[in-house]
Amino acid sequence: MIYLDYTATTPPDPAVVSAFNAVAMGYPGNENSEHQSGKAARNQTESASEMILRRLLAPEHQVIFTSGATEANNLAIKGLADKKRHLGKHVITTPYEHASVIASFGVLQREGFEVEFAETGSDGTVRLDSLQALLRPDTILVSVGAVHGEIGIRQPIDEIGRLLDKYPYITFHSDMTQAIGKIPVDVSMVDLATFSGHKIFGLKGVGALLRKKNVILEPQIHGGHSTTEYRSGTPPTPLHVSLAVALGLAMDREDDQLRHVYGLNVYLRERLAAFPEVRINSPVSAIPHILNISVLPIPAEQMRARLDARGICVSTQSACHSGKGRSEAVFRLTQEEQRARTSVRISLSRLTTVDEIDALIEALGAELGR
Ligand code: PMP
Repeated sequence: MIYLDYTATTPPDPAVVSAFNAVAMGYPGNENSEHQSGKAARNQTESASEMILRRLLAPEHQVIFTSGATEANNLAIKGLADKKRHLGKHVITTPYEHASVIASFGVLQREGFEVEFAETGSDGTVRLDSLQALLRPDTILVSVGAVHGEIGIRQPIDEIGRLLDKYPYITFHSDMTQAIGKIPVDVSMVDLATFSGHKIFGLKGVGALLRKKNVILEPQIHGGHSTTEYRSGTPPTPLHVSLAVALGLAMDREDDQLRHVYGLNVYLRERLAAFPEVRINSPVSAIPHILNISVLPIPAEQMRARLDARGICVSTQSACHSGKGRSEAVFRLTQEEQRARTSVRISLSRLTTVDEIDALIEALGAELGR
């Protein structure tokens, strides 16, 4: 099998699984218990939080562990709106967001919030002047994903952060799930940042929302008293530690993996240029890990299935969207129906090899009758 779907998920690093096992066996106490067993487990989570904040150079933030990025996005958007609705009901996002961001804004809209979308340029990036023009005294939240999971569009988070610094009453959230651990990001520019373990060779079932300590959120999961103020229940200590270990490893390797993936992306683009039927949808400014292409004669889902039959895993749209026959994001970016109906996402990682890219090119050639 050739796996070219690392944006959907990555296999866990063995060191992450070892850390999970060691904490599961060594610290079985309930963090909500006051005795020494509970305290020992709690210390593990506290160390994991400190490590995450140290690695991300985010001393002003708190780590709220969640089950993943979906939960973190829900908590950020709905939790913030619940607390600030008395101050205003105007919220802003972009057309290039993950389903969990879009759906959370959908909930706010049903509750009477006004949701506006910042304009984007031809490469999908937010236009700062348009964003600034949307800001109002009753704007409480701006949410801009750092990297779009389907196309790889990269947003100017630092510049948006600097703009929003002038509006201290507006909370700035960024879904950094496809950025943290892959490309350099400055978490200090945002009030709330989302990321997830399984996108960076960690485990499924854990992620985090980083919250600047002055930002108040309404918990979205209610229950009894817990050390996890925003999320009642018994904290999964081994998952918390696994997230810190995965992030540490990803950041240690960030430069090397970025260079490797960038080289593969350039090579893949060069080889695809031999097929006039193929269009590249990801802008050159996209992160190199994601290359979204359209194979014009072949509908997306058919292409995906045919490559799968040849042992190659790629995806259509984002795995989280239900198939409507076309990719709304690719349509928005290219304004071409055919491209939107035939787009597949190839995604690369430090584990991808040139041989795997060659095998993909060979399979594409065979499907196109070469
Ligand atoms: N945001 C982005 C940009 C993503 O790519 C994903 C994963 N598809 C998510 C959020 C959701 O992540 P999780 O699986 O951890 O809920």
